[in-house]
Amino acid sequence: FYCLIHFYKRLVAKMTHSNAQTNKTVLEKYLKLEQGKRVQALYVWIDGTGEGLRSKTKSLEDSPKSLADLPIWNYDGSSCYQAEGSNSDTYLHPVKYYPDPFRGGKNIMVMCETYKYNKEKTETNKRKECAEVMKKAEHQHPWFGIEQEYTLLDQDGHPFGWPKNGFPGPQGPYYCAVGAGNVYGRDIVEAHYRACLYSNIRISGTNAEVMPAQWEYQVGPTEGIDMGDDLWMSRYLLQRVAEDFGVVVSFDPKPMAGDWNGAGAHTNFSTEGMRVAGGIKVIESAIDKLSRHHVRHIKAYDPNEGKDNERRLTGAHETSSIHDFSAGVANRGCSIRIPREVAENGYGYLEDRRPSSNCDPYSVTKVIVQTICLDE
Ligand code: ADP
Ligand code: MN
Ligand code: MN
Ligand code: MN
Repeated sequence: FYCLIHFYKRLVAKMTHSNAQTNKTVLEKYLKLEQGKRVQALYVWIDGTGEGLRSKTKSLEDSPKSLADLPIWNYDGSSCYQAEGSNSDTYLHPVKYYPDPFRGGKNIMVMCETYKYNKEKTETNKRKECAEVMKKAEHQHPWFGIEQEYTLLDQDGHPFGWPKNGFPGPQGPYYCAVGAGNVYGRDIVEAHYRACLYSNIRISGTNAEVMPAQWEYQVGPTEGIDMGDDLWMSRYLLQRVAEDFGVVVSFDPKPMAGDWNGAGAHTNFSTEGMRVAGGIKVIESAIDKLSRHHVRHIKAYDPNEGKDNERRLTGAHETSSIHDFSAGVANRGCSIRIPREVAENGYGYLEDRRPSSNCDPYSVTKVIVQTICLDE
């Protein structure tokens, strides 16, 4: 019976594979056609899982001059785990738009918040409250930089480039590596980096990670609500680029059990007071506040209130235990790390190493500002 299931899964995997193949160079021919006056706007939103992204496109008569020119739109929430079929119209409220690197030219992508039929926010709309908190803390100029880690997979769910019937050699040579035996999927990373630059997303770097086929890019520093908007849009770009290459992106915080590193979304944070001479005092006081809200933060740091991060925050593989709060200079086994340079300069920022790779950056940045800036 088990064999039968296995066989069936393989068959489905094969079918999906052949289905997914179209020739991307043929598409080029059509994308070069004169587009005319109208503009394509790709509306993007977060679905009911709190992790998945969805999108659909509408034509606009003209390029928007500001956000106000972008119409509210709607979609079938019941097909996104967000509404009952009998009351399924869910609303898209544009919040920020970006140049579209896939269609190019004047075409845009539009990040949206989601609202239910009764005009209340959906359960996975974490942005609304995040924006309210950011507004309250505006005068402290909160900056964020998120290090987004992720894993590339084949369409059968196995890490990209790993031997099909076994494992690559143990961790050691892969972090920031070069060379065909050590690097798995660089084309995707390069294409994504350029796509982010094109879209005006403040991507600040990228590196290969400790586990083969695992990568990281950083977005930031950006102020306030922009972190959430830009990180979500950068994830959308990554999924689209990888789709072009026929590769799957996983944001699972521990895609491979055993002696393989997990994936996080280290969140670097500062306020104006932390960034000026003597700011280390403000950083220390912030760490003291964080130490008193560990559980609340763990709940906000993955979409399943700590369940996903439980597999990752074990105390091994450069993580701290999910059960304890700790802080230290240059220590990668702590909840909070003060970078060595910050300790030496006496000002700068702190790094919260707890957020999971599949976290909602709206939830993460919101709770950090509540705890540190608003004493809520
Ligand atoms: P790590 O050494 O932990 O791997 P990275 O270089 O990957 O660090 O990421 C550091 C992040 O910190 C970058 O996203 C950067 O934009 C961000 N950052 C730098 N200075 C600040 C600051 N003052 N406030 C918030 N974030 C910052
Ligand atoms: Mn990093
Ligand atoms: Mn990393
Ligand atoms: Mn880090």
